[in-house]
Amino acid sequence: MTIAEKLKKVKETIPSNVQLIAVSKTYSADVVYEAYKVGQRLFGENRPQEIVEKYAKLPKNIKWHMIGSLQTNKVKHIAPFVEMIHSVDSQKLLDVIQKEAAKNNRSIDVLFEIFIAEEDSKHGWDFYDLMELVKTWKLSDYPNVCFRGVMGMSTFTDNQTQVKREFSLLQNYYNNLHKLIPTFDTISMGMSGDYKLAIECGSNMVRIGSSIFGER
Ligand SMILES: *Cc1c(COP(=O)(O)O)cnc(C)c1O
Repeated sequence: MTIAEKLKKVKETIPSNVQLIAVSKTYSADVVYEAYKVGQRLFGENRPQEIVEKYAKLPKNIKWHMIGSLQTNKVKHIAPFVEMIHSVDSQKLLDVIQKEAAKNNRSIDVLFEIFIAEEDSKHGWDFYDLMELVKTWKLSDYPNVCFRGVMGMSTFTDNQTQVKREFSLLQNYYNNLHKLIPTFDTISMGMSGDYKLAIECGSNMVRIGSSIFGER
């Protein structure tokens, strides 16, 4: 199947209220362009270097989402154009995003990455720590950041009950944070292997790579 055909097939399984981020990490700009040609505009990348290179090569109406863990010293490279950063996992990172967005005279959308899995390899806030912090912030301290919602990754397992429990937890965390942050509207959860379950549990943004572009 071509990329266009695979993209179409994936889209048929996603309700219209759910946004599809095509995760193009490790694939070339030419491959991204195949998906662009058939209308895909949202792409996700997990390395700053790679997202900068593809941004330079590809049409400027693509919306680039940073989905991988991000070092504070790399924010300046993506701040001029990145649409959304899904992987905000520390106050320090948030402060740097605010600073760099202001320098570029723009606003950057962010999601809080929250830890929901059993694996140590996954990143993110402890939800209760994050709640305590948010209560101490004035949202006006972040005039160039738009707080859009949460992102999470489930444990890599065949146990559907467990994955469902983790996704439901993230939905619950979202609801609690939304009470403090009125601009929230996004729950980014679900990848190729688990996005259907994620959508059942309330996801409205899925990050899908291998089902569209093939195994990496
Ligand atoms: C790679 C990646 C994805 C996509 O994973 P697939 O299994 O290829 O769909 C989603 N989210 C994050 C954070 C990723 O790094």
